[in-house]
This record gives sequence, structure tokens and C-alpha cells, in this order.
Amino acid sequence: MEFAAFAERVERLEAEPADLETTAIVADLLVAAGDDLETATRFLLGRTYPAHDDRTLDVGPASCREAIARAAGPNVTADDVEARLAERGEIGAVAADFDFGGQRGLSAFGDGSDPLSIAEVDDTLRELAAAAGEGSESRKVDALFGLFNRCDPAEARTLARLVLGEMRIGVGEGTVRDAVAEAFLAAVDDESDGSEEAAVDDESDGSEEAAVDDESDGSEEAAVDDESDENGDANRASDGAYAAVERALQVTNDYGRVARLAREEGMEGLDAERIRIGRPVQAMLAQAGSAADAVESFGEVAVEAKFDGARVQVHYAPGPDGFGPRLYSRNMDDVTDALPEIVEFVADRVDVPVVLDGEIVAVDDDGSPLPFQEVLRRFRRKHDVDRMREAVTCRIHAFDCLLAGGDSDGGGEDGDGAPDDLLREPLRARHDRLVDVLPEAAADLRVVDDVEAVERIESAALEEGHEGVMLKDPTSAYTPGDRGRDWLKRKPDVETLDAVVVGAEWGEGRRAELFGTFLLAVRDGDGYEPIGKVATGLTDEELADLTERLEPHVVAESGTELRIRPEVVLEVGYEEIQTSPTYGSGYALRFPRFVGVREDKSAEDVDALERVARLAENGAGPADDASLDSR
Ligand code: AMP
Repeated sequence: MEFAAFAERVERLEAEPADLETTAIVADLLVAAGDDLETATRFLLGRTYPAHDDRTLDVGPASCREAIARAAGPNVTADDVEARLAERGEIGAVAADFDFGGQRGLSAFGDGSDPLSIAEVDDTLRELAAAAGEGSESRKVDALFGLFNRCDPAEARTLARLVLGEMRIGVGEGTVRDAVAEAFLAAVDDESDGSEEAAVDDESDGSEEAAVDDESDGSEEAAVDDESDENGDANRASDGAYAAVERALQVTNDYGRVARLAREEGMEGLDAERIRIGRPVQAMLAQAGSAADAVESFGEVAVEAKFDGARVQVHYAPGPDGFGPRLYSRNMDDVTDALPEIVEFVADRVDVPVVLDGEIVAVDDDGSPLPFQEVLRRFRRKHDVDRMREAVTCRIHAFDCLLAGGDSDGGGEDGDGAPDDLLREPLRARHDRLVDVLPEAAADLRVVDDVEAVERIESAALEEGHEGVMLKDPTSAYTPGDRGRDWLKRKPDVETLDAVVVGAEWGEGRRAELFGTFLLAVRDGDGYEPIGKVATGLTDEELADLTERLEPHVVAESGTELRIRPEVVLEVGYEEIQTSPTYGSGYALRFPRFVGVREDKSAEDVDALERVARLAENGAGPADDASLDSR
């Protein structure tokens, strides 16, 4: 696919306000992508690599500006580009402003007159991602310059955004998921057995080619319009098709691969995808909930301590041709090298292939848990690992088992020689496998059916220094990336803070007209000191309301950031208060969340730094009744 054709659709997506149309345009793009389907799918999400792969382009905004300046000609400097960025607020718009191509002949790509293909862009981005060592920064700028030099304005806009990983076209993962189902599985009726085969075969024996050709000579417009005019729902796939795409995405974390599988192998191919050692899946997440919620919804409740540490997924296949152990963070970054004692612990004890889910905690000499901040001193460390290993001891609490071999040959219990993918097994069964493979680190799981029993376990967990308890449905499957109701987290309530807004950042994509992030401050003497930024917990309506309230108080604007006179007071929740050099207050809220606007309060009434210090000191402890009543 030519990069210009991709960029043209990206522009159309950006201009398209309705979600239904967006999905139709994305579906159309996926069909038109032909051999470049995987790349086009990833590009749409601003990615060169799948989400499970932690390689990055590692191109900073300065290098991107430099490459744009060079492609724009001898009269344009990187400073000019930066100045333009301050005006336009967004690198894509800046890149589209310049007239590129004047530097032909200087480009690394011959005379640069060939149209750029999406595959070429992908190859170049991958090459520059791999560039390392001395001079790599300037090689990256060279390579980018070569690309920009061949771009028309629409291509340049798309390329600049892609390089910096922010497409700003309102196409999220959900849209791509739906579009994959609608592009390649819409004809599949999951009720009528056998018809998938036919539908899929139809598509994969060459007819895409035809479709692509048809479309690329100008008829895309018509194709998209047709669909949307007649009926926005005309291309809806069956619920089973959406679910199959969703599940395959959960297991692979690779939108490109899933799009290709859907096109070439249909539902069956998607369904056959399995969790694999070395390819981390997203962590299953929890919602807040109470013991009563859990008993009411699950009947029997599996209760475990909520360990206060950092999430980790362990992938290990023992043996000479094995793999790992390697450890991945909640964002699927490889953090193995920072935690050698966990690697040794697993390698010494596990003798079958496994994927385990757990929490790394820092412990004192008696093995009691230390606060979360201690683990952070270890978790992503690249230097001084050995010294820090001496200073902060870490251990792993494993609480789930996503894949396991069980026989002496490493195969699973079904005797097929391959380790078992346990994602769809119930929690109880997964926990049994966990106890089989790594009893020394398996979290205690107690199944109870009344609120008092949950509360007793919670008290004991708090007593032992844990953060609270997790309440899980013992019959539930492991759904990667899902923050559903199968896992509930129960922590002692924390007191909220009242803080004043002293800054904001414009939102992105669809929210570009609204403030999206708010810098909060507490009182310190006669002034205010920032303690964190809140961006979660806000609906579009609330954002619009806050934007309207705050706009009259803006005192300065630079790029996307605004300085705001302290007037508007917000109540915020948070999970913890940490000491932090990031903010002037010396503290930072961990996971701050918007609770409400305190109309009744003015800036002078916000909480004082002393209270923040006291809460931090007490581990932002349980709320007393008075503070709850004061809401
Ligand atoms: P939170 O970070 O407050 O959203 O709580 C969810 C996190 O608690 C998970 O992502 C895990 O990192 C962590 N956690 C600690 N203990 C457990 C456990 N027993 N089961 C699942 N998650 C746990």
C-alpha cells in the first residue's frame, strides 16, 4: 500500500466525528491494505511494534524537529520548527505546513521521486529503532529526513505523528477491534456452523487482491459512502466474531497479527491462538469492591492478600532450548535484568514451562512487606543492580498461573506434549496448577462464602502488612487486560484531599478542545505547591465544565500547557501519597482520581501541606468517620 493512500485515510478519519463512520473507514483501510495489513493496523494505533514487544523507536521530539527542518530546506532551522510547534501545538500540523521534497538528491533514497510505500516506512522505522551506540541519534535523524523528504503534506503529518507515537485520529484499540471483525468476519454467522469456512475461504483465495485493486483506483469514497448511507449497521459482524477478535487480541497483544489471522484463517484461526512463552499478555485488572459485593455476586469468594508491590509476569521454559526466566511489568516491559534474585528463585524451583502472574514486593530482614516505594527502587533499574539488590530485598508472590506444562516431558495434563493454556480454566484450577509448579511462592487462596470470613482474612492481611485483600470469583477465567467484576480489590478507605487547580494541559484527539489534565496544589504558607496531576475519573461533561470554569483564570499558555490562577478547588482521591522530587511540595499523589468540584471552597480553604505530610507519614491511612461525613 502506498503511504499516501494510508495518509489520505488517516486524514479522513481525523475529519470524521462519528464513531460508526470511523469504524467503517478503518475497516475499509484494512481491506485495502493488502500485503501490508499488519503494518497498517499497527500504524493506525501509532505503533511500529506489537504491544507485547517493548522495542521503541526511541526518537525524541528534538530529533523529529531536526529531521523536519532539514527536509524543509536550508532556510528552515530546528528552532523555526520549534517556534512553529508552539504556534500550532502539534507536530503533525507543523510537518504538514512545510513544503518537502526540495532536498531531493540529498536523500539517502536515490532521487526520492518514487512514491513512499507503507512497507518502506516500516522498514526504515525498524532500522532506526535498532540503531544504537555512538552516532545513532544522527543516523536516526538522517533516516527520518530521508522519509520526510519524500512526503506530501498529508504523509508528513501522518509520519510525524507516527514517529512520536501519537496519531490523534480518534482511533482507539476498540475501533480497530471492531473494524477487524467487520472487515473480515462480517459474513460469518456464528450460529450457522460451517459457514465461516466458506466465507473465509472466499476471502482468502485472491479476492482481497481484487478488492484492493478495485478500491485503489478511486472507488474507496464510494465504497465507504455506500456502507454508511444505507445503514451504519450493515457491516456489523456477529457477537461471536467481535468476541473472537477480542480474545485473540488479549492472547497475542498484536493487532496486526490478529487482523491477518481474521482475514486469512477466520474465526478458527483466531480461536486457535494460545498464550505463548516469551509473548506477555496484559495483566488482568480489578475493580474496587466490598466483601458484600463479592459474596453477593460470586457466592463463594476466593480471597487473597493484596500485596503492595509491582506486578510481574514470569515466562520460563526450563532446559537447554528453553527460555528465560524473563519478567515483564504490567505494561509488558521486560524488567528481568533488574530482578536477578527473582530470576534465580524461579529457575531453581520450576521444572516445567510456565507463565505466572504475581507481585514483586520489597521485604525487610524478617520477610515483612515494606512500602511500595521500596520496590520502585529496584523495579526498572538499569544500573547498580547488584548494589541495590543488597540494599532492598525483593520476593515474588505468585497468584496466578496462565500456562503450565505438567508432565515430566514438559507437556500439559492433556498429554498432547504442549504446555496447557490455562486462560479459560477457572481460577481454582489455575491456582492448583500454581501450587504444583511453584508452591514456595504461591499466594494463599482461601475460598469463603460470608462477609465476616472475608473481613477476618482482611484484618489478618492488614496485620501482616499487606495492602488489603483481593476478592475473586473462583470460577472465573483469566481475561488479560480486562478490568471486569471477576476480581475486586478491597483496601481500607483513604481520606480525600481538597486541592486547587494551578495548571492544565489541553486534551488529545477528540478531547483536543478541552482541558484534559489538571495540575493540583495544596497550601504552603501564603502560596501553593503542586502535588500531582489528575486526568482520570472525568467524563467528557465534567471536562467541559472544568474547562469552562478554568478558562477565565488562565494566566499563561505554552505549547499544550496552561498556567492557571488558583481559584477552582477539586476533591481528589488517590491510592497513596509518596515523597517525590517531581513537585514543589515534595510529595506526589499516586493514582489521583477526580471526585468532584468543591463549589463550597475557595483556594484559601484547600488542604495544607502539613496534612499531606501527615497522610503520607501514616501511609494515607484509613479514613476516620468524621472525614467521610464531611463530604
Ligand atoms: P490497583 O493497583 O490498586 O488497581 O490494584 C490491582 C493490583 O493489585 C494488581 O494489578 C496487582 O498488581 C496487585 N495485586 C496485589 N495482590 C494481588 C493479588 N493477590 N491478586 C491480583 N492482584 C494483586
